[in-house]
This record gives sequence, structure tokens and C-alpha cells, in this order.
Amino acid sequence: MNKECIRNILSEGKVSSKIMISGWVRTRRDSKDFSFIEINDGSCLKNLQVIADQDIPGYEENVLQANTGASIEVIGEICESQGKGQKVEIKAKKIKLLGDCPADYPLQKKRHTNEFLRTISHLRPRTNTFGAAFRVRHAASYAIHKFFNDNGFINLHSPIITASDCEGAGQMFRVTALDIENLPKKEGKVDFSKDFFGEETSLTVSGQLEAEIFATAFSKVYTFGPTFRAENSNTTRHLAEFWMIEPEMAFCDLSGNMDVAEKFIKYVIDYVLTNCAEDMDFFNKWYEKGIIQKLQSIRKAKFARITYKEAIEALEKSGKDFEYPVSWGIDLQTEHERYLTEEYAKKPVFVTNYPKEIKAFYMRLDEGEETVSAMDLLVPRLGEIIGGSQREEREDVLRQRIIDNDLSEKDYAWYLELRKYGSVPHAGFGLGFERLIMYLTGVSNIRDVIPFPRTPGNARI
Ligand code: ATP
Ligand code: MN
Repeated sequence: MNKECIRNILSEGKVSSKIMISGWVRTRRDSKDFSFIEINDGSCLKNLQVIADQDIPGYEENVLQANTGASIEVIGEICESQGKGQKVEIKAKKIKLLGDCPADYPLQKKRHTNEFLRTISHLRPRTNTFGAAFRVRHAASYAIHKFFNDNGFINLHSPIITASDCEGAGQMFRVTALDIENLPKKEGKVDFSKDFFGEETSLTVSGQLEAEIFATAFSKVYTFGPTFRAENSNTTRHLAEFWMIEPEMAFCDLSGNMDVAEKFIKYVIDYVLTNCAEDMDFFNKWYEKGIIQKLQSIRKAKFARITYKEAIEALEKSGKDFEYPVSWGIDLQTEHERYLTEEYAKKPVFVTNYPKEIKAFYMRLDEGEETVSAMDLLVPRLGEIIGGSQREEREDVLRQRIIDNDLSEKDYAWYLELRKYGSVPHAGFGLGFERLIMYLTGVSNIRDVIPFPRTPGNARI
């Protein structure tokens, strides 16, 4: 007998074949002679309907105890369905109750809010929303690896513990094996030379610097790993632990970088629309009306490209009363970003060439030395989804930028050596994976697209 997942049975199950399935009961209705059981096994959004006649063996101990939430195993035959909504159903020959489920199971028929579901993160994967969200998340993750693989990139596992601070001073989580009740001190300060690694270490905020090393050997690389930021911003778009995709390309400039980012986003949209049609219909209906059509049109659109200067002018001319006033030199806030993509460009827009003061030291200094070759991709609903740049490949310019930013030349000696030995123009970007999933699904809180969100005050399952 074939053990099958529900998705395969619903899509290609042959009438009258004998199968075995297992899953969790979503609902059960009993009539005089038989019971209808809706089962879900997580392989797809739809449930499979099972019909159990009251004369099958063990009907009372198994079927009548199979309450919402219980796990069961069913042996039966695929039949054409008489009811609406599904082509096939299962006529059970035997049903085994594996784990019963008492009436205090929180996921009964009623629809819960996502806020409530966050308080039961061990059970929420069994709901329709989270089922759909995590199948889409899986498909997007697969599509990302496939995109880079098919385009000649090498995947790099960058380290999670690091002693070098990419850009995140003050927002890094410390890693230590010291006894915090009894810290070793030297001249009034903690003596990190006594710590596990012999120096101060933290969880990484980005794999970019390591990716640059590998790009100068493999030409095209990408990381896809967890990153950590201790920024205390309790927003719907920030997590303390999130997954980032960071491609890095040698022999590539700012415009080549944007070309890759655009092609990449469109590829993932395409893959998810094609492979997650049922889950996307769910989001289209319950989360963001018209999202499928919007994503389809984005796939066809050419993303806009404007400079920071043009962006500031557009914001100044907009006549909008922004909470944060606009002038040259400001860091764009979400309200500005959303205006630029939703109302000004009316599609995804790259903003480039930001003032050097508001961007990281490693971004390539433009002619005129006021701006750097940075690019952020802004999308409707979210604002920034990608941040990237062409990197400074000139050793002397980079050294000066390190000094001007009060960073230590000694700490970045290896980074400077990449520019000394066979330096090349290179570029890359970082995409927050959870922001991408929000963008694809219309789910509006980032806590609902990661299995176990880490946010200020919350790190338990
Ligand atoms: P923002 O301005 O939105 O806080 P950032 O400028 O700090 O983002 P970068 O350092 O450019 O972000 O990181 C690259 C990408 O990582 C961002 O474009 C975003 O998609 C994602 N990202 C950054 N911080 C977070 C976070 N705390 N939680 C989830 N995703 C994040
Ligand atoms: Mn950014």
C-alpha cells in the first residue's frame, strides 16, 4: 500500500486506488450511519475528506474519538467525491487514532487573530495562515538557491560568531563564555583576553565582509544565513534574528548590481506564483486583495532607478506633510520610502548615490566625493527590502574612509589587503528574507513569517 501525502492525492490521486494517509483532524461531522472527517497533513492548504462508515472496525474507539486536533492514520480507497469543493475523497476501510486531542485544544473552528496565535507559537503552524506562509517561505528559499546556482554563484556559509564589526556598532549581541557574575578585570575594564576567543566577540550583523573575501576568489558568491541585530526597534518590519541573502560579485559595478537584484526578485516572484498557487490564492483572498495581480505586473515592469538627489527633490515637491522633515542629508524614513515607491514611481524603485555620511565606510566613493555608490530597493507596503552598494576597491581611498569613520586600520588590515592583492571592482547587496516573504504574501507583521520570532522581550519558542 502506498503512503501518500494529501497534496498528491488531491492533485493526481487515481480513483479506486488503495492508499494510506495520516494527518491531523481539522473537523469531524457525524451523521446516523457515518462520519465525515477533514484531515490536513501540512502538504497543502486543502484538507482531504474521509468518509468513515459506522460499521468499519473500531468505529467507536477511533472515529468517534477523532476530535479536532487529533492525529489519525487512515487506510482506504480513493473515490470520486459527491460533495462540492473537491474532486476526490477517501472511503475509509480502517482508521487508527494515534493521538487524541481534548476539547481545550485552542485551534477549534473559530478564526483567531495573529496576535493570539503568536502566544501559541508551538501550535500556530497547524493553522491555514501559517501553513500557507511557511510553504511559501520554503518555496522562496528553494527558489533563491536555485536562482544563484543557475547563475553560477557559489553558496558561502559565513560565520555566525565574529570579532569584526561590519557596521553595527552598538547593535550587536555579545558572545561570551566569561562568568558574568565574576568578570575578569584589567584597569577597571572587562579583560576579554581571558574570554573564549581571546577578544570581544558578537553575533554577526551581516556576512558581507566574508562574502567579499570569497568573491575575490570565486567571482560570484552568496550567503543565506541568520543575522542578528540588537536594535531595540519594536516595529512590524524588524526582528532581532532574521535571515539575510547576500550576493557579492567581483567584476561588477552599481548598475550591474541593480540588474542582478531586479532579475533575482522577479525570479522569486515567478517561482512562488507558479509553485504556490493555492497558498497565494489564500493570501489574495484573506491578506492582501489583488496581490497576485500586483506581483504579476511587477514581474513585467522595469524597476525605476533614481538618485538620492532626485528622491529628495521628489519628496520636497510632493506637498506631503511628513513626520520627519525632508532635506539633503537625511536618512530616508519608511514614510519617505513608501511615498517614493507607492506614489512617485508607482512600482519598485532603486534609490542610488546616497550622501557618504549616512552610509557605510566600505561603499565606493563617487566622483565629487559627496556621495557613495549605494543602492536601496524600495517596494510598496514595506519601503526598503534590499540595501547594497558597489564596494570601495581603491586601497588608498578605503584606508582614508576607515580613518575618517574612526575605525581601526589594524582591525581592517585583511580587508585592505583584498584591495592590495588583485583588487577588482565589486558589488553586492543584502535582502532581508522575512521582508521578502511579507512582500510576497501581504502578511503585514514580520513576526508572522518567521517560525519563531526573536524580538525585544521575546526569545522563548
Ligand atoms: P532598515 O533601515 O529597514 O532598518 P537597514 O538599513 O538597517 O534596514 P541593511 O543593513 O541595509 O538594513 O540590511 C539589509 C536588509 O536586511 C534590509 O534591506 C532589510 O531587508 C533587512 N533587514 C535589516 N534589518 C532588519 C531587521 N531588524 N529585521 C528584518 N530584516 C532586516
Ligand atoms: Mn539599508
